[in-house]
Amino acid sequence: MAAPLPLPALHATHAGIWIAQADGEAREAQRGEAIARAAETPHILLNAPLVGQRLGYPEISGLDLLELFAFIHPARFAVPTPAGLSRALGLKPPASEAEAAQTLRVIASNMLDRLVAADWAEREGAWTSNATLQRLGWGWAGLIAARLERPEKGERMLFARLRQWEEAAERPPPRTIAVSDDDARARLAELTGVAAEPREGQKAMAEAVTRVFVPRTKAGAPNMLLAEAGTGIGKTLAYLAPASLWAERAGGTVWVSTFTKALQRQLDAEGARIVADPGERARRIVVRKGRENYLCLLNLEDALQGAFSGRAAILAQLAGRWAAYTRDGDMVGGDLPGWLPSLFRRAGAAALTDRRGECVYAGCPHYRRCFIERAERAGREADLVIANHALVMVNAARGRPDAPTRILFDEGHHLFDAADSTFAVTLGGQEAIELRRWIVGPEGRSRGRRRGLAARLMDVASYDEEGGRALDAAVEAAKALPSDGWVQRLAEGAPFGPLEALLAEVRGTVYARAKAQEAGYGLETELAEPDGALVEAAAAALGALEALHKPLAALGRRLEAVLEDAPDWLDSAARARVEGAINGLAWRREALSAWIALLGRIGGSADPDFVDWLAIERVEGREYDVAIHRRWLDPTRPLARAVLEPAHSVLVTSATLRGSEDWGTAEARTGAAHLPGPIRHFETPSPFDYGRSTEVLIVTDIGRGDLAALAGAYARLIEAAGGGTLGLFTAIQRLKAVHARIADRLARAGLPLFAQHVDPIDAGTLVDMFRDDPHASLLGTDALRDGVDVPGESLRLVVMERVPWPRPTVLHAARRLAHGGSGYDDRVVKARLAQAFGRLIRRQGDRGLFVILSAAMPSRLLSAFPSEVRISRLPLDAAIQRVGERLSVGESVAKPVAQADQALDID
Ligand code: SF4
Repeated sequence: MAAPLPLPALHATHAGIWIAQADGEAREAQRGEAIARAAETPHILLNAPLVGQRLGYPEISGLDLLELFAFIHPARFAVPTPAGLSRALGLKPPASEAEAAQTLRVIASNMLDRLVAADWAEREGAWTSNATLQRLGWGWAGLIAARLERPEKGERMLFARLRQWEEAAERPPPRTIAVSDDDARARLAELTGVAAEPREGQKAMAEAVTRVFVPRTKAGAPNMLLAEAGTGIGKTLAYLAPASLWAERAGGTVWVSTFTKALQRQLDAEGARIVADPGERARRIVVRKGRENYLCLLNLEDALQGAFSGRAAILAQLAGRWAAYTRDGDMVGGDLPGWLPSLFRRAGAAALTDRRGECVYAGCPHYRRCFIERAERAGREADLVIANHALVMVNAARGRPDAPTRILFDEGHHLFDAADSTFAVTLGGQEAIELRRWIVGPEGRSRGRRRGLAARLMDVASYDEEGGRALDAAVEAAKALPSDGWVQRLAEGAPFGPLEALLAEVRGTVYARAKAQEAGYGLETELAEPDGALVEAAAAALGALEALHKPLAALGRRLEAVLEDAPDWLDSAARARVEGAINGLAWRREALSAWIALLGRIGGSADPDFVDWLAIERVEGREYDVAIHRRWLDPTRPLARAVLEPAHSVLVTSATLRGSEDWGTAEARTGAAHLPGPIRHFETPSPFDYGRSTEVLIVTDIGRGDLAALAGAYARLIEAAGGGTLGLFTAIQRLKAVHARIADRLARAGLPLFAQHVDPIDAGTLVDMFRDDPHASLLGTDALRDGVDVPGESLRLVVMERVPWPRPTVLHAARRLAHGGSGYDDRVVKARLAQAFGRLIRRQGDRGLFVILSAAMPSRLLSAFPSEVRISRLPLDAAIQRVGERLSVGESVAKPVAQADQALDID
């Protein structure tokens, strides 16, 4: 083992603060002393923002081990805790918090020793990058420089080291074939392997899914199957078996669409069963996400060349290290550690992606190495594309050439919500300023090489006079959109231009009419009975938007004409750039048309197909957006029209697709009800014995609004379970209040408590930390209700603080009215309960309890749970006793499930 580095280390948790001195002595310290020492001498620490929060001293800096890890092993996974990092490096994890400070020093030495190891895999580029990091004043750079030998030959530039994608001929349409039941069963047996024979429900599902791949008989009527497959039947392989067969034999692509990143990761891991050879697998199974997830190399180059300064410049260097080793350039949920951006307090990470659609396509010097372009091309050639609902819907709705025609929607109970967001219209300050930037380009003090439309199309504009005029007119008209500082101007009552004036009226109306649901957070009011000033402002804004729409449409037409009658100078690179501009223009014009339609109705009669409202978005009292929103009353209508009707094969599956409702409800929630053809149904129950492995406890003696009692109940339940608890809240403020009261007490008992909205760490990383430590617990809100896949002992107790009633928003009220009043609310709550309950038992042998801390739980909603599950109403003391009896831990706590293999037996 490496000798500890002669530097002090600081470890701070809710249990206390420890300092390991440079001479090796380790002891507990008081907060004041720790802050003073850290200010005096740089200390080794792990996750500086988190340590700063624990100390109540956010400015703390030091030698952060996570930054060092990101430098030495970019694109490698590690749980950002002393134990997690130790495991990632093959070191012994600390046995206690007190030992952890010492461990930090050992980890630092071990990592620095790697710099001289002959087999260090990520050496290339390190010297050059560290030289820049040293100039930027990065704490680790001197220590690295002292160990890292200067390469004999100069290192290749980062961008030269990245793989290029190859252009390929367009793929022919898939052959018309069917997949037989026998073949699907045989493929399923291959995929499951001899060790785990296919289960009966799984075989039946594989056969049912073959029907969706039968050649379609009528345009606009896909073969559609709705399948409810209970947890544990192995539904992923059940659909991948026929899907992979069809793709191979037909020479087509099947899109597998998920809602959560956890399932996307799981599906990616299943790929190894379908194609064993990693090279071949990378070609045939491709993960795709929206372009805003990927690193944009042009933005990275800007950042590396000085567009970023201070800490953001250090982040850019670490991102550059990662770019050379990443599998696919996915910065959000890919192999960039989720904790890395938060170490830099979000400075810069988002600016490295192409979030604003400013891509210059073939005009970009990195076009042939671009991760986004590579992923798009790989997807066209692949057998299976693993994507998410939003991307599938956007691609289909925009009529992209690679729009999916064979689609398997897993986590299908989320289709409604995914369609709801995809087909939403938001006319707000943030969206409008993005459009302005896309057209006008950087203004004022903005730096970097981002370009406006005029700069991107300069050559076309000078070649085609009419196009040039349209471009000038569009740039001029875009200046009516909000510009930097608009939020401030609205607050000061000094809006500039017609759009800001409209938003000022919207803001005024919201403050006059809305009731806050949670202090400091969003405010909204329905768009009804607008006053005269709002109507007038809407008319002026509408005029401005129409004045922008016209030249954009003319420009689009001119660009198409230039492509058709291509001049000599239009080489393939320029052509690709013009095509990119045409696509970009098309969907921005669509957005503008939707805004114009929305404004056109202000002061007139409401459209019964839509729900419109006005809102102010706030976080902890700080306003960041003002907007007019429009949602479809039934978003499955555009889903059916834009996505399902053009498809040939559609499977929608989930463990809770139907729940306790009838198939009619499932058809209505998935868009199937709007299709002409017969819709097939399939269901198979979970093989798990819920009656033996789980129990639901409804605690009857916690008073509503009694925060002290609520916090006490959480603490005692977590203690009784020995950790392993997922606490779900319906309000962020209550979550924070409970966390503040119990985190120290639990930590001192060796039970770490992590919390979404409290810890400065992204939700995905929090789940990794929770999974990694069977004594840890996690508190969170909606996103964790069904985004958490933690099989095994790490999750054995789910505690819900309240009945998860829908928030009484304008949108909810409209849907409630349209769909049966309180019966609609009941359906929503039951679905949420079923999803939360579904977190508990993820594989054979799991056990756990589900506790609801609300006596107000109506009995009619209990049908959300499997019928064999025992449900008791009891006081807290009895519940705690029950938890203690059923979930004794200690020796029985299994080793944490490693990230790679936890994926295999979840569905
Ligand atoms: S092609 Fe576009 S997205 Fe890709 S690196 Fe260049 S500018 Fe960025």
